[in-house]
Amino acid sequence: MRTLIKNGTVVTASDQYNGDVLVEDEKIAVIGTSLDMHVDKTIDAAGKYVLPGGIDVHTHMDMPFGGTTSADDFESGTVAAAFGGTTAIVDFAIQYRGQTLHHAMETWAQKAEGKAVIDYGFHMIITELNDQVEGEMDALVRQGITSFKLFMAYPGVFMLDDASIFKAMLRTGQNGGTICMHAENGGVIDVLVKKALAEGKTAPKYHALTRPVRAEGEATHRAIALAEMADVPVYIVHLSAAEALEMVTEARDRGLPAYAETCPQYLFLSYDNYEEPGFEGAKYVMSPPLRGKDTQDRLWRGLAFNDLQAISTDHCPFCMKEQKTLGHGDFSKIPNGAPGIETRMSLVYDGGVRTGKISLNRFVELTSTSPAKIFGLFPRKGTIAPGSDADIVIFDPARTTTLGVKSLHMKVDYNPYEGRQVTGVTETVLSRGKVIIDQGRFVGRAGAGSFIKRSPR
Ligand SMILES: [Zn+2]
Repeated sequence: MRTLIKNGTVVTASDQYNGDVLVEDEKIAVIGTSLDMHVDKTIDAAGKYVLPGGIDVHTHMDMPFGGTTSADDFESGTVAAAFGGTTAIVDFAIQYRGQTLHHAMETWAQKAEGKAVIDYGFHMIITELNDQVEGEMDALVRQGITSFKLFMAYPGVFMLDDASIFKAMLRTGQNGGTICMHAENGGVIDVLVKKALAEGKTAPKYHALTRPVRAEGEATHRAIALAEMADVPVYIVHLSAAEALEMVTEARDRGLPAYAETCPQYLFLSYDNYEEPGFEGAKYVMSPPLRGKDTQDRLWRGLAFNDLQAISTDHCPFCMKEQKTLGHGDFSKIPNGAPGIETRMSLVYDGGVRTGKISLNRFVELTSTSPAKIFGLFPRKGTIAPGSDADIVIFDPARTTTLGVKSLHMKVDYNPYEGRQVTGVTETVLSRGKVIIDQGRFVGRAGAGSFIKRSPR
């Protein structure tokens, strides 16, 4: 099967040129100008960008949380991803206490198999560490699960103490993996939450008011210090606060392998959303919470100057109906998370590239190339080059659309960006050489996505 993408503007993290791309079976075979060969299918990309498919390294499909389960499974979630120009995800498998990592891996493999429409990998969340688990960590790295996520928050559920974190870091420093950290001081937050509830402060906004920026800054500092002592790369997930960004910047200035991602919600939404009337603020209950509007510029600057290396979504949707409402009268029971996998590329293009905050190349780097490099997917994914997987997005930079729950495909009954106009829309998507979105129409197949075995450092 040969497909020729003609007349487009090819954009990678480093280049931009008018060119044609020949796809042979699952791979990119030839890139050139005025390619003219016998093919099975020609796609005219005149006036469009030809981008490496988006890579979202932070998603939670079909994830149990707080007595309910995130609303998208691996099918609906990856269909929505594809519509939004994302062709690979790295989701989080969870080891619950008393379970082996192997069990967790099997559980998540089953959730994804036969459902995912794009390729997927897994990070492993570790919630309990012992000698046996440490041995399993090495085995997982060999099996292509090369990153471990640890929590400094959610005591009693996910949180690990510093000794366990440090042990897991030492092991990962040896086995070639990378540590992902949820950096918020869970002990402090727990005390603040109990205090607020005791004072009758139950509205959604207290979710944010009990998770201060300094609790994120402190944990980020501690995560980096522990990783430095363990000699292991650390990647701070969903960084939201300027106080945390300062810690990452300082570490990088010292030459440490410290990385961080932020998410569109921290770039386009703010604390003000929690002040929306009634229970509406629950739509934005996520951890870390949305911050003050002034943080947005700091994060954009961090993205522009490479103090932040990736934009992923933390896609973790819960419906307002029957899910978010679990926290009616008690903000601490509102499931944490929001939808975002489908809107990432358009939001960041519209709000980042079109406004001049980041370049077009940097947009590709932040949404695809850099996460691919950090998490062992590059150069198989994350660029347009001969030999790379033909995960390609044909993106119309001139088309405008209005984001809204009616036109989007995530299985959730609201959208945090409802009514927002964005210019820059994904039009056609190839996943390993097969067209799965054709001019805005889904033509892929559940189960076509494969598990990606990622490389260690
Ligand atoms: Zn998350």
